[in-house]
Amino acid sequence: MLLEWLKKVNNRLRNNITLHKIDMANLNTQDTNITTDYLIIGAGAMGMAFADEMHTQNPNITMTIIDRRANISGHWNNAYSFVGLHQPAAFYGVNSSVLGNGSTDLSSKKEILTYYDKVLKKLENSGKVKFLGRHNYLGDGIVQDLENPDRVLNFKVNKKVVNASYMKVEVPSTSTPKYKIDKGVNLKPLNALPEEYDKWKNFCVIGNGKTGMDAIVYLVRKGVNPDNIYWITPGDCWLFNRDYVQVGDLSREVLAHAKLLTKAKKADDIFLNMEKRGSIVRINTNTLPTNWRCATISPSELADLRKIKNVINKGYVNRITATDIILTQETIPYEKNTLFVDCTANGLAKLKKEPVFSENLLTLQPVLFCQQVFSAAVIAKLEVTNISKKNKNKIIPIPHPEKVEDWPRQLAVSINNLLIFHRYFPMWMFNARLNFMSHEPMLDYFKYALKAMLLSKKTKKAVIRLGNYV
Ligand SMILES: Cc1cc2nc3c(=O)[nH]c(=O)nc-3n(C[C@H](O)[C@H](O)[C@H](O)COP(=O)(O)OP(=O)(O)OC[C@H]3O[C@@H](n4cnc5c(N)ncnc54)[C@H](O)[C@@H]3O)c2cc1C
Repeated sequence: MLLEWLKKVNNRLRNNITLHKIDMANLNTQDTNITTDYLIIGAGAMGMAFADEMHTQNPNITMTIIDRRANISGHWNNAYSFVGLHQPAAFYGVNSSVLGNGSTDLSSKKEILTYYDKVLKKLENSGKVKFLGRHNYLGDGIVQDLENPDRVLNFKVNKKVVNASYMKVEVPSTSTPKYKIDKGVNLKPLNALPEEYDKWKNFCVIGNGKTGMDAIVYLVRKGVNPDNIYWITPGDCWLFNRDYVQVGDLSREVLAHAKLLTKAKKADDIFLNMEKRGSIVRINTNTLPTNWRCATISPSELADLRKIKNVINKGYVNRITATDIILTQETIPYEKNTLFVDCTANGLAKLKKEPVFSENLLTLQPVLFCQQVFSAAVIAKLEVTNISKKNKNKIIPIPHPEKVEDWPRQLAVSINNLLIFHRYFPMWMFNARLNFMSHEPMLDYFKYALKAMLLSKKTKKAVIRLGNYV
């Protein structure tokens, strides 16, 4: 009975971690009572960046980190073996430990998993932090042991529950495609490519987000003839040129975006002008992209992507039959010996923003454009800083972008938030390795901070003019 009820609650809460009223009378005497200062739901990159910064700020704080997965590191556990960071390791991970050689390297999946294991060990060795894998949050401090589902833990949380699973990251190996796949169709997530790339005549990659691009580059570099690769791309994307997403370049380029924003008549103008500078690129220069997901690509990867001539730009896949691909705009036949590679999981979706600070709950969200881990660390710093909740909530969340029109608001709000952080803790900002600006020499750092301050009002006005500063 209890088990059934828990299952029901669990299903209801699967996609929602907001506090939920639970009938305590229904819980049996097997409940275990545990006290902790912070109960962190989710041991992915954001949960770890938050826990690390909290521990640095106050090593006496007790924290329990739980995750449905057995291990820490969140989505990285299920990513394809050839995944890597898209941005330099210099500003990824947690504030207190350097990742990789701490510079331009794009850490591999293995390096990232090993890194987080070390971070956890360091936290656990303090005796103040515990990790519980295979545990699921049910609301109201109640946690279910997934290995023994009728056992629940009842947490007395002294300070706050921390929702570190708000981002709902999806990767192809753990999500089901949203289109119909008929019997006999050969379809696999891109995780399978290392075993499959030499077994098929043709490949059809579905999706042109970062994973779709990674799949194409992987196949081309494994020697698959580009003419045997088909690519279903429902809408073109603007991309960051990785050569500019580097220490010493990124701050300057972001400020250039912001300056262009102040003069832009529409969002496209920013991208077209940044393309002229070289820091923004598109695969097909004959079309005007409508999507913007903050994805990053190197010039050599771009050259590989441009080798694909069989680009199918006829909308979304609705169904794949034994002979045809049924797209929203057209039905296209395909050859028998084809492996479909699913890359349609929405890695980082654009989610509704929530207040970061509420009474007993912190909701970890990006508060700087596309900088999830730094955002989690900065939220920890704000949590321990003596500021009213009202002022803390002047920090505006920045949902992950999907469309070109999302970028102006992201830029203006990022600048607004950056100025608030600098007002409260400038030296912390200057020293935080997750802050990409902190890798600049001191003089440049303050020059950029000053420029951001001068641009702040103008960018806000520009976004209001463009109609989406919310
Ligand atoms: C392929 C890929 C590459 C990326 N590369 C970069 C990069 O180079 N630079 C960058 O800044 N960002 C990058 N990102 C984004 C980056 O990984 C972020 O750090 C990520 O968005 C935030 O991780 P997270 O901790 O919020 O989510 P997750 O990794 O999904 O972790 C959340 C965890 O919460 C757990 N959970 C959910 N609900 C519950 C519950 N009820 N009870 C218990 N546990 C629960 C889940 O099991 C999960 O393990 C990349 C993302 C992807 C997909």
